[in-house]
Amino acid sequence: MSLRRLWAPAATALLVLAALLLGTVPSANAATTATPNFKAPFACGQKWTYSHHSAEVRRALDFVRADGGTTNGSPVLASAAGTATRHYQASGAGNYIKIDHGGGWQTYYFHLGAFSVASGAYVSQGQQIGTTGNTGNSFGAHIHYEQLYNGVGQNIRINGSALAYPGSYHQYYLTSDNGCGTSKYWVDTFANATGYAQPNTNDPQGVLNAGTNYVYCKVWGQEIRGANGTYNHWWLKTDLDTTYAGKNGRGAYVSAYYLSRWGNDEARDNNGRVIPNC
Ligand SMILES: [Zn+2]
Repeated sequence: MSLRRLWAPAATALLVLAALLLGTVPSANAATTATPNFKAPFACGQKWTYSHHSAEVRRALDFVRADGGTTNGSPVLASAAGTATRHYQASGAGNYIKIDHGGGWQTYYFHLGAFSVASGAYVSQGQQIGTTGNTGNSFGAHIHYEQLYNGVGQNIRINGSALAYPGSYHQYYLTSDNGCGTSKYWVDTFANATGYAQPNTNDPQGVLNAGTNYVYCKVWGQEIRGANGTYNHWWLKTDLDTTYAGKNGRGAYVSAYYLSRWGNDEARDNNGRVIPNC
């Protein structure tokens, strides 16, 4: 009895001491084990299906669209913030991006049709890093996606939930919420621009005044060409400054031709970020 009575407080004291000792080390530990909150590598609201095949390296999943959209050319998004680097491997990954998220975590995006960021660029979650393609050893456009911890492929988690590893497509689906929250991109426009209900020159809604304006996203549409030969097919979704009688100026489309900073068929914000597709 007396022994037990003595031992219990002693054990408690030891535990407290151990906790205090651990408490002096953990900042490094916590940093290296913090897992980024990875999101789907494709645009907000899109639904893709995924599968894993036995010849696959590490713990990859391959994604193709399952929402009626075309897989080839769809934007590939950073699933978490980090430093992106470009790579090429003819016999396997093709054009691919590796993002280093810090803390030992990396993600890979293989078979890209094109890159959207410079090698070494810091990218934010939801930023477009490339377009889906079929480069390297690939049979049909898809995103080959991986999450690695200290160089070892992990079972893929999206928004903290583990995905399944089915052997074929159309058994499991993933709808993206990546980039849904980052809704405004600031751009400078050089002249007053008419906004339209759709990305073309029908049904004008009002005017976006020249200056610094926000836009939400972009859509490919009718080409607008200036007298000096500059042109742009992209249309930017925005809210207009003035609205014509009986029209709705919210969520109208203005041609990216009016962007002050960027070239033909480019649609970037003032920080050089590619404006995401709507
Ligand atoms: Zn693959």
